Amino acid sequence: MTVKKTVAFSKHSANLFFHILTQCNLSCRHCYINPEQHGKTRVPLETIKAWLDVFSDGSAATNLIFLGGEPTLHPDLSEAIKYARTRGFGSITVDTNGYLFHDILARVSPEEVDFFSFSLDGATRKTNDGLRGEGSYDACINGIQKTVSAGFAASLIYTVSRANLHELKFMPALLSDLGIERFFIQVIGLRGKATRSHEGDSLQVSRSEWLQAIPPLAQKIARQGITVSYPKVYLDAEEKFECAGRVAQNYFIFPNGRVYQCPLCEDLPIHSLKLKDNQLIRTAKLNESDLFELNIPEGCVMNKLIQPDNSSYTLGGVPEYKIGCCLLKEELKPQ
Ligand code: SF4
Ligand code: SF4
Repeated sequence: MTVKKTVAFSKHSANLFFHILTQCNLSCRHCYINPEQHGKTRVPLETIKAWLDVFSDGSAATNLIFLGGEPTLHPDLSEAIKYARTRGFGSITVDTNGYLFHDILARVSPEEVDFFSFSLDGATRKTNDGLRGEGSYDACINGIQKTVSAGFAASLIYTVSRANLHELKFMPALLSDLGIERFFIQVIGLRGKATRSHEGDSLQVSRSEWLQAIPPLAQKIARQGITVSYPKVYLDAEEKFECAGRVAQNYFIFPNGRVYQCPLCEDLPIHSLKLKDNQLIRTAKLNESDLFELNIPEGCVMNKLIQPDNSSYTLGGVPEYKIGCCLLKEELKPQ
């Protein structure tokens, strides 16, 4: 049996997405990292510690995710993880492409890292490597196997696009073989490289493709005992729309000190917060937080601005459905 629920936004917990560098050994076709906007430097260990202090209140309610670029390219990631453990974060996750540089598995323990979260964008070598680069499939699979063998918990992120939608049907067996505990389905969006090349347009899946494929697949995987999460994306007319920027606490930190509350804003210099002299300060208006306050019948304002084709209208010009916040997830938990 599985239990499905929409994970409501909570004011009582926070998620800290900490990009400790933007450098990466891969060059994925839809990478959302934008060094022009996010900086090209590596955050020094002392600064990582200072910024973690800014966001840790010891209440164990903040989930910390280390990302990049490829975070294991940072030589001090293990020290950053150990420090974060002392600061009382509720959970610590490392998002990785699987190369696991700097012998990271030997330098941290399963008590220190709750999850290593791997990115794989195809069930086969051909499809994944077509999107993420030659050799990346084998590196990811090997990385997962080493991680699970070393006693760590592993999760997997699959970004759905036109290029790999057809391979989702192979994922239930692959996830079981690999010993994955949580599966995150993402939807490709027009961010980062996809925007700059306009390639995202052709990779985006339609509403009917998404609705036909994703919910049934998630059910199937959850019945195997794996927790599955996927973005809700489309809200029915009667469903309440909420913008996470207004009602939740999500912080996306970048090496240049920018702190966004909405991932769809990250290609623009409209961050609402910034870290300056190791203090978190508000930026001048106008910024993303002014957009969060707008109420439009289409739902998410940023979606309307950067991905207007996701909406559809009746002949009378009324939106047929609302686009939910990109941070709103459906979660299926095995019972
Ligand atoms: S592994 Fe991640 S950071 Fe690196 S290129 Fe791919 S999407 Fe970008
Ligand atoms: S994705 Fe849309 S709804 Fe979610 S925080 Fe950004 S602007 Fe708000």
